[in-house]
Amino acid sequence: MRAEIVAIGDELTSGQRLDTNSQWLSQQLGNLGISVGFHTTAADDLAPLVDCLRIAADRAEIILVSGGLGPTADDLTREAISLAFERPLALDAESLAQIERRFASRGTTMPERNRVQAMFPTGCQVIPNPNGTAPGIDLTLDRSGRTVRLFALPGVPIELKEMWAQTVAAAIGGTSTAPTKVIRHYELKCFGVGESRLEEMLPDMIRRGREPQVGITVHQATITLRVTTNGKDDVECQAQAQPTLDEIRTILGPLVFGETGDELQDAVGRMLAAANQTVACCESATAGLIALLLSESPTAAPQFRGGRIAPQLEAYVDKGGESSQALAEQAAQKIKAESASDYGVAIGPIDDSGNYHFAVADQQGVISNASQTVGHPEIHRPRAAKQALDLLRQRMMSAG
Ligand code: ATP
Ligand code: MG
Repeated sequence: MRAEIVAIGDELTSGQRLDTNSQWLSQQLGNLGISVGFHTTAADDLAPLVDCLRIAADRAEIILVSGGLGPTADDLTREAISLAFERPLALDAESLAQIERRFASRGTTMPERNRVQAMFPTGCQVIPNPNGTAPGIDLTLDRSGRTVRLFALPGVPIELKEMWAQTVAAAIGGTSTAPTKVIRHYELKCFGVGESRLEEMLPDMIRRGREPQVGITVHQATITLRVTTNGKDDVECQAQAQPTLDEIRTILGPLVFGETGDELQDAVGRMLAAANQTVACCESATAGLIALLLSESPTAAPQFRGGRIAPQLEAYVDKGGESSQALAEQAAQKIKAESASDYGVAIGPIDDSGNYHFAVADQQGVISNASQTVGHPEIHRPRAAKQALDLLRQRMMSAG
């Protein structure tokens, strides 16, 4: 059984508001073991909406529609459903009475416009809305012999969530012919190689159709491998995922630094805390980002002794005529000494060809590495900061 989510509203397609309802609904469907094949977002425009709904009905068995159930002229969901599936709108007397009571309880009378919220496509069930005037629509369709169930909910997130919890979740659970299942994701976080290189190291794992499925995503040079399972409960999902997680860890070794929710600085922080050690940093290219990452991480923050931003490392180490590698190494040693920390991390400026050096100093001495970048600081700063943190992680691994 496949689901599609159709989010409706000009404020979504114009970029004024982010469609968080689709995200939330997908997570809820995942908890019921139903995978979502499509997120569709459409403007408040009748003809395209009708098309969207028909397309959804041809490729999904569950359709969740969010938004456009209000009383104003730009709220077209009701009408679009009616047209798409040839179900004329009819007045539901009980819903009308309820909407009228809602206004009465606030000491006013119902504006004529709100009457439309009591109009429903024929043959549907009404989904009560305890928090607003717009009731939802629950419509079962026959598409050339396939049964499709459509639920339309108001766009206001709190209304949508309550209606999901009170009515829709149970209705979908009852629709499902399969025993109830849950979808669970398990993540392994990696740093140190590009995504295509990583995929080469894991032959056949990223293949579509593999059980369990393994996905790969990159965010600011951190690679996430996501193992997705579908089982009757957490225990069964964990058991399904474990052999794959173990296999990945064996192949990738130290490239894996953590699990779901982990960032490199958290892993570094855990290692520092376990060894009861501290770190300080001196930054040029990253302009304070390493310090920020360490400060924001709950595990790293207590081990962080402070940092400096030094656009030119020469000025900080008080020397001229040195290579940029030597400057990074000296800055790492100086910040370590100055902060009385166990480790000093330093990163130099990016030169005209895009090259930069970073270094880690400890009691044993100092190590350094170089990298090259092109592009916008928004892209290369996080990458450079993580490279420096990863050099520290490697140093600690080889020490431990
Ligand atoms: P109402 O009866 O309140 O008019 P509605 O069903 O017509 O309900 P909309 O007018 O589409 O809902 O949206 C109402 C509010 O909910 C707006 O503030 C809108 O920005 C927000 N909203 C709508 N859709 C989404 C969405 N997909 N994700 C997050 N917020 C949304
Ligand atoms: Mg509205």
